[in-house]
Amino acid sequence: MLERLEILFTEEQLRSKVKELAEQINRDYQGKELLVVGILRGAFVFMADLVRNLEMPVIIDFVAVSSYGDDTVSSGVVRILKDLDETITGKHVLLVEDIIDTGLTLKYLCKTLEARKPASLKVCTILDKPSRRKVEFTPDYNGFTIPDHFVVGYGLDCAQRYRNLPSIYILHQECQDISLTKGEAGCE
Ligand code: 5GP
Repeated sequence: MLERLEILFTEEQLRSKVKELAEQINRDYQGKELLVVGILRGAFVFMADLVRNLEMPVIIDFVAVSSYGDDTVSSGVVRILKDLDETITGKHVLLVEDIIDTGLTLKYLCKTLEARKPASLKVCTILDKPSRRKVEFTPDYNGFTIPDHFVVGYGLDCAQRYRNLPSIYILHQECQDISLTKGEAGCE
């Protein structure tokens, strides 16, 4: 399998988009404390940049989720691998995601967290791929809307690699061996 990376968003583009998103969030939550929840692992780089641009008092937590598999893709059931350490009842919660694809992860997570009665619950993502939605989901804050490409870098991986790249790239995979499918290469 040959992999080729094509630049999609540079460090500079990401920096200015993160500032823009943080300005909106600073305006919307002025005078309030915000619990910022990162969805592991992909959101860790974006979240680290975002929170350093936030001006209100901020508390940080993380949640880790994983999809069950083909059976549950249609039902939208997602497994919580690591739950929040903080209680969210009565708090203003901002979920931070790397990319929204089918929308199943966030639909499920938001439903689960809403049941804990936060004061408010909003979602901020750096990338959105609305053309692949299986359920209706619109983020409250979105960095870039992108077409149907598989992207890596800035926290996003392919088989756990590329997360450390400071820019975002389209990953082109060119099969040399036709018996090797995309799934076997470890990318979703
Ligand atoms: P969904 O919205 O389909 O429930 O899931 C979103 C998750 O799928 C993201 O958090 C990310 O882990 C993964 N994902 C979706 N599209 C891409 C992509 O283009 N690149 C990478 N690296 N992960 C993706």
